[in-house]
Amino acid sequence: RKNIEYISTGVKSLDDLLEGGIEVGSLTELIGEFGAGKTQLCHQLSVIVQLPKEKGGLGARALYIDTEGTFRPERIIQIARARGLEPEKALENIIYARAYNSDHQMLLVDEAKKYIEKNNIRLIVVDSLINHFRSEYPGRENLASRQQKLNRHISQLHKLASLYNLAVVVTNQVMAAPDVFFGNPLRPAGGNIMAHGFTYRIWLRKAKEGKRIARIIDSPKHAEKEAAFAISEDGVTD
Ligand code: ATP
Ligand code: MG
Repeated sequence: RKNIEYISTGVKSLDDLLEGGIEVGSLTELIGEFGAGKTQLCHQLSVIVQLPKEKGGLGARALYIDTEGTFRPERIIQIARARGLEPEKALENIIYARAYNSDHQMLLVDEAKKYIEKNNIRLIVVDSLINHFRSEYPGRENLASRQQKLNRHISQLHKLASLYNLAVVVTNQVMAAPDVFFGNPLRPAGGNIMAHGFTYRIWLRKAKEGKRIARIIDSPKHAEKEAAFAISEDGVTD
């Protein structure tokens, strides 16, 4: 393993859990129920990637593909302030794109090739990866075509990650499962296509007193461990 780069999460416990942070060149999936902190962490990473290496970033920009309309510039401003960045600059360094349907989402990823290098983009966020696919291809009868398309989308992201040496972070919802998955009656949406599509899968959940727990559920290099974190005015914190 030579010279793997990481983007710090900005949270000591999470960086320790991940043995450095979010890995560049790979796809990482943040899984969790509503309010678990997936979008908050995506905001935070979009700021931290901008920091210099010695502060956990890559001195680079982020591309933020928002499929749910939950990107909040004012949140970026708060997180940037807390990290000592000029808020307006931090916002400018996040290239924002709203994806209106799954075709548009895939087009945005395809078109990103034209400007990734020129703009020094080293992080692509897709929040969330799957919601358009789920709503456009409902039910059993559409499952095969949905999964096929989702697979193509994940391949697109893999190509960008390795071609441009950048980190891809996506979010995914959980759904009720008929059986128990990792001690939980919920499981990540998207089935095997998602399970095999991502190098690292991190499950976030709400715990007592506003705390959050992150658990690595799928990784070639990490043990199945957990770490606690919190969400505050300043962003995601220890
Ligand atoms: P969804 O599946 O609905 O998209 P999510 O996992 O993306 O959920 P987030 O939007 O990341 O969830 O988390 C929302 C939670 O973050 C809020 O419920 C709140 O607890 C916390 N939060 C957001 N902003 C702040 C803030 N300024 N101060 C403290 N906590 C905050
Ligand atoms: Mg969200």
